[in-house]
Amino acid sequence: MIKTGQTPRLTVVVPCYNEEPMLPTSARVLRDLMQQLMMRRQITVDSKILFVDDGSRDQTWALIEQLQHHDAVFTGLKFSRNYGQEAALMAGMQAAQQFSDLIITIDADLQDDPQLIPQMIEQARAGSDIVYGVRNDRSTDTWFKRSTAQGFYWIMRKLSVNLVPNHSDFRLMSRRAVSALMQYHEAKPFIRGIIPQLGFPTTKLFYKRQPRQAGTSKYPLRKMIHFALDGLLSFSTAPIRAVLYAGIGICGTTLIMLLWILVQHMRGVVVTGWSSIMLSVWFLGGFQLVAISIIGEYVGRIFTETKHRPRFIIQMDTYSAAFTQTTSLTTPIRFENQSTR
Ligand code: UDP
Ligand code: MG
Repeated sequence: MIKTGQTPRLTVVVPCYNEEPMLPTSARVLRDLMQQLMMRRQITVDSKILFVDDGSRDQTWALIEQLQHHDAVFTGLKFSRNYGQEAALMAGMQAAQQFSDLIITIDADLQDDPQLIPQMIEQARAGSDIVYGVRNDRSTDTWFKRSTAQGFYWIMRKLSVNLVPNHSDFRLMSRRAVSALMQYHEAKPFIRGIIPQLGFPTTKLFYKRQPRQAGTSKYPLRKMIHFALDGLLSFSTAPIRAVLYAGIGICGTTLIMLLWILVQHMRGVVVTGWSSIMLSVWFLGGFQLVAISIIGEYVGRIFTETKHRPRFIIQMDTYSAAFTQTTSLTTPIRFENQSTR
């Protein structure tokens, strides 16, 4: 959300990992777009494109340096090594938030349609704090990628993690939404899961995703599985609960087994020792699962506590604004953090 009548300063954050073949084209497209937006006064003339070099091993950083030498719209951040796309996005947004009214994140390969950016800005002017770019057509993805993605969204929904299906990391956020995001201090933030938790007025814009034009995907299967597991485990302690229920179920079954074992024992159709061994196996198995899950529950609580997620996020604060000269929109949003207890 931005003040009506005010031209927003935009920063486009672009994570880059070994994007040497793609970067010159992407930089040109993005620069042209920024120039158009500046001419139409949709963004300020000091808006920036921020490339975050995620420890590339090719000439990506040299290219970024060259670009910023030629045009002041380009800027860069360079990681000391590869930390992953999520870290690159967080770093870019963190750097951008203090200087920008609006922040857009987009992949360096421009598979996501940059021509959606003007509409995103319009939506922000109309009052949205978060504008999601959502793919309405995944026909360019392989069958495997499509179906694993669908399975992932299904599981996450079952675990009541609220994701925006078919949205990757192409989105616009207002400054206050980004500063709310920065209150999530976990080491491995699953950004796509956190953003819907932030609240604020949001909109979705739809587009068709293009195939990658140069370079290769930086997400081989191994990295995709890691990403999915990170998302699942960082948002849910449901697997621990599942173990607890399994343990209780097995303990319950032990009672039925007890009857069955007694009957067999009475009928005398069993070898010596069978009854006691059967009973111990069932009872101990169930009991151990319950015991493990109890430890798990404590570990799970430590896990959620150590994340220091904000307890709440304030969208408007007219109280503090009443005591300051500035309006409520420019008043920094206050957060209460679990660590300040
Ligand atoms: N990326 C990154 N660090 C990584 C992997 C990827 O910064 O460790 C960037 C990459 O340069 C690109 C974006 O994340 O801008 C998405 O990667 P890619 O296009 O390879 O993913 P895909 O579209 O195949 O899912
Ligand atoms: Mg891509």
